[in-house]
Amino acid sequence: MIPMVDLTTLRPELRAEIDVGIKDVLDNGQFVLGPNVGAFEEEAAAYLGCSHAVSCASGTDALLLAMRAVGIGPGDEVITTAFSFFATAEAICLAGAVPVFVDIDARTFNLDPCLVEAAITPRTRAILPAHLFGQVADMSVLNEIAERHELLVIEDCAQAFGARHGKRKAGTLGQAGCFSFFPSKNLGAFGDGGLVGTSSEAIARELKVLRNHGSVQRYQHRVLGYNSRLDELQAVVLRAKLRYIEEDNAARRRVACGYDELLAGLDGVTTPYREMDGYHVYHQYTILAERRDRIMAALEGAGIACAVHYPVPIHRQEALRHRYPGLQLPVAERIAGQCLSLPIYPGLNDEQIQQVAAAVRGAISA
Ligand SMILES: *Cc1c(COP(=O)(O)O)cnc(C)c1O
Repeated sequence: MIPMVDLTTLRPELRAEIDVGIKDVLDNGQFVLGPNVGAFEEEAAAYLGCSHAVSCASGTDALLLAMRAVGIGPGDEVITTAFSFFATAEAICLAGAVPVFVDIDARTFNLDPCLVEAAITPRTRAILPAHLFGQVADMSVLNEIAERHELLVIEDCAQAFGARHGKRKAGTLGQAGCFSFFPSKNLGAFGDGGLVGTSSEAIARELKVLRNHGSVQRYQHRVLGYNSRLDELQAVVLRAKLRYIEEDNAARRRVACGYDELLAGLDGVTTPYREMDGYHVYHQYTILAERRDRIMAALEGAGIACAVHYPVPIHRQEALRHRYPGLQLPVAERIAGQCLSLPIYPGLNDEQIQQVAAAVRGAISA
């Protein structure tokens, strides 16, 4: 059996460190907004290269809090991608704003910057790209468009912890970068968690108020906020794991290189495109397959997991499709029918990589 991701094996040194950290939290009894959360925020900001990192309860909340913190709300439009996890657009709606979907680049699966300007209206407030599968969107062009039209840029970095665009890390390329620590993400907690990175002191301050019931001072509530905090136990886990993220991401890249080589030139299969000036962290290794069903059946037969990320673009989801009756996004729709993610995680070994590739090859040549 080869799973999509293996969340049961931890480095032994990590396990020991987390055990001690958890015991300390239980002993001192401070479970919410304690010293580990503060320390993790400082360590995350230093790692990412931004001045502030404010943690919260999930990646979805990170997006919602970031939008609220910059003042996005009812009447505002936010340009985003329909080829992402649902939460990207869900958070825009939860903030009271309207997602305006733009099609993607067929090679990178990220927002196609060439289509963004045509979607700008007087109500547009922000561009919200998602760095899908661990590869940063074309931020040079997106930032240039944003500057020209005085728009904000909020990054959905849920799949891109540690990814880079040139020398800068995902999450530091716009006004706010939103991360998820859902267990299967590149930096995963033992439950839900999220974080917003920003270099604006004002945004950081607002995020801290919003995540804690709009409270500036105990029992004084300036605005309606949320109960959205990272807890100390998750912060213990994340502090320990943060120290291995570069190693883990490098291991994911090694797996991806293995697949790239073993699947090269296969008829009807396109391996993931890698931007020259970026550092892809392969949250997913997603191929395009003309005969996806055959490959999925072959993998299943060989005891190898696979997944479709994502089978239904967001504008076609039941929750939202009534708002976008005539909208067609041909690239996103075509790719939703062809994409297939193969197992990828730091501990996947060469033999397993070969097994997966052999099953894919077998399905094509059979
Ligand atoms: C996981 C994910 C989210 C949501 O994060 P949660 O922590 O699960 O709320 C948002 N956007 C993308 C692209 C994701 O992959």
